[in-house]
Amino acid sequence: MATIFSKIAAGEIPSHKVAENEEFYAFLDINPVAVGHTLVIPKAEVDYIFDIDDDKLGRMMAFAKRVARAQEAAIPCKRVGLAVMGLEVPHAHIHLIPITKESDMYFGGKKLTLSQEELADIASRIRKEFK
Ligand code: AMP
Repeated sequence: MATIFSKIAAGEIPSHKVAENEEFYAFLDINPVAVGHTLVIPKAEVDYIFDIDDDKLGRMMAFAKRVARAQEAAIPCKRVGLAVMGLEVPHAHIHLIPITKESDMYFGGKKLTLSQEELADIASRIRKEFK
């Protein structure tokens, strides 16, 4: 059965898309811990990120770097933090989070509540900066 993230990459479930190429898809996390919190996924299904072969994992990181550059340009922050957990959704994903302080990357607390309009605006700002 396809994962929810496969359905998102295929456009079967809506998402606030940030960037895409043949292999990878980036979109806003629906329950962000900080403004601009983005997930990068491989389009091909794999659960655990460290099961991805070295070359592809390298390309995934290079793609995530381009997304991070776009986030830095679009969202006020000191830098972009990166995390991988995968405890909730069994489809490998990298969290990219614009941060100014350590607690901006705290996953155990209350998430931001942003409207669909706000999320659409944030995604569009990051998308415009994606090179
Ligand atoms: P984890 O698997 O522990 O890395 O967490 C999964 C992440 O995916 C969480 O931050 C969720 O908020 C996020 N998430 C789950 N479903 C969606 C969705 N449909 N669209 C965007 N983000 C999602």
